[in-house]
Amino acid sequence: MALPSVFLDILKWLHFWCYFYSSFNVCVPYTVEECSSRSWKNFEQIHTSFCKYVLGVSKYTSNLATLCELGRLPIGVRITLAQILYWHRLEQLEDESILHCAYLENKQNNYDFFNGIKYFLKSNGLGNFLDDAKFYSPKYVKSFISMRMSDQFIQSLHSKLNHFENLLLCKSLSPYKHSDYLDEIRNVKIRNVFTRLRVNSNKLKAYCHKEDVLCSHCKVPETASHLLFSCSYGQLPVIRNKFDQNILNVTPTFSNKTINDKLSIVLNLNFSSQEAVKIACSFVRDMYNHRFNRNP
Ligand SMILES: [Zn+2]
Repeated sequence: MALPSVFLDILKWLHFWCYFYSSFNVCVPYTVEECSSRSWKNFEQIHTSFCKYVLGVSKYTSNLATLCELGRLPIGVRITLAQILYWHRLEQLEDESILHCAYLENKQNNYDFFNGIKYFLKSNGLGNFLDDAKFYSPKYVKSFISMRMSDQFIQSLHSKLNHFENLLLCKSLSPYKHSDYLDEIRNVKIRNVFTRLRVNSNKLKAYCHKEDVLCSHCKVPETASHLLFSCSYGQLPVIRNKFDQNILNVTPTFSNKTINDKLSIVLNLNFSSQEAVKIACSFVRDMYNHRFNRNP
């Protein structure tokens, strides 16, 4: 008996993340001590490539936008946390073991490992952990530092993602988690169209990093909102009219919204009924496929 598609979907996502993290967790302990920036970058690259694979977007898609869409933190955050916890464990040692002696030598001579920890804690206003390491429990250190690092990353997202107006319009950074539409849309092809429009990983001219950003038909910037709500290329107005009529029956207030609100509602599937969600999914898929002559 075939499994319903919803179970297959959940299994696929579980398989992806379990496979990635089982591989990753084997490697983290090595990076804790071998903390060169090159090894960090390699892990970061593997992590973001994997996230792009899961989302089905091109390798040229912004790393930050990809992480943001999935609600994930950079691997560097996890590696730094592992380093801090390892350092904290070494600080708790009181015996005469080789490990403790080696750590004390590292600390007294300001070698790379201790220096890196010291620099990180001081530059983040966490010098108190450095001075009174034994006073804090491992559980407290873990929860406090992971919360501080996540907050810093999320705060920096707004300024770093200022070219991703569609994503910032649709995505809530608080709470920081993967976008709901990823669970809501079961059809992979339709979900992929939504992702491409949200993270600017598509062929619309406004996002192609070329001088000509104008729609060849309407001579205005070819953005996601232009495609969905005003472009007059080919059959797009016909598909849009059909959508307007259908959505009016289930969500009468939609037509009174501004273009930005409409874009946010549609790309976020922020509707109160499943019927409206279905109509919006078909609309976005048909508009995108028609514009780029893709088969449904
Ligand atoms: Zn146009």
